[in-house]
Amino acid sequence: MIARLRLQPADVGMGLTGQRVRDRLIEDLRAGGIADERVLNAIRTVPRHQFVDEALASRAYENNALPIGHGQTISQPYVVAKMTEALLRDGSPQRVLEVGTGSGYQAAVLAALGLDVFTVERIGDLLRTARKRFRALGLHVRSKHDDGRIGWPEQAPFDAIIVTAAAPALVDALLEQLAPGGVLVAPVGATGAQTLLRLRKEADGGITREELGAVVFVPLLSGMID
Ligand code: SAH
Repeated sequence: MIARLRLQPADVGMGLTGQRVRDRLIEDLRAGGIADERVLNAIRTVPRHQFVDEALASRAYENNALPIGHGQTISQPYVVAKMTEALLRDGSPQRVLEVGTGSGYQAAVLAALGLDVFTVERIGDLLRTARKRFRALGLHVRSKHDDGRIGWPEQAPFDAIIVTAAAPALVDALLEQLAPGGVLVAPVGATGAQTLLRLRKEADGGITREELGAVVFVPLLSGMID
């Protein structure tokens, strides 16, 4: 799966972007309860330092969120790992929709795992930078500049949907675009009181809901900007 990535020497990294700091991050994630080897392997391989500003590259393998401009952040590796693990836990999703491309890192992790990734971002400037990163890594990710709260109806249904910005309540349009058996992972709740939810749409259309813990995300906003 990881073979889908086209890695240059700068992606492999060295020193604070190299193998040893990445291995340390992986051990951190394991200690935090992440057990899916596919997810750990993808996080070890995808060069997170290429998804932040050069000035922050030396901090890319710390287990922290980092600023990416426009008041947005690249999610903490632990949160990326936890959400990805929750998406893959049962079933083998193929088509996955991400709402909130941001840096493109979460989408790259999903693409490295061999999923067909569709991602939507409302800030044009962030999306353009993310697209350059996908191209440089040889990753095939389909993306759209839009308000992701409407999902991507033309490409629905999806086996999995991941929302990387928090809404006060679940977005119905996204649940509707989930295939039977599909899984949606999203932070829901007001600022300061967000919970990561995993929802599974059962074959009969019923929804099974599970709470995965407290999280901190930037808000899911309406409309688009350049
Ligand atoms: N998955 C990203 C996390 C980025 S932070 C990463 O790996 O870097 C959340 C992102 O969601 C921000 O870029 C923000 O602009 C975007 N966002 C917020 N509301 C949105 C909406 N309604 N539609 C699409 N993107 C949205």
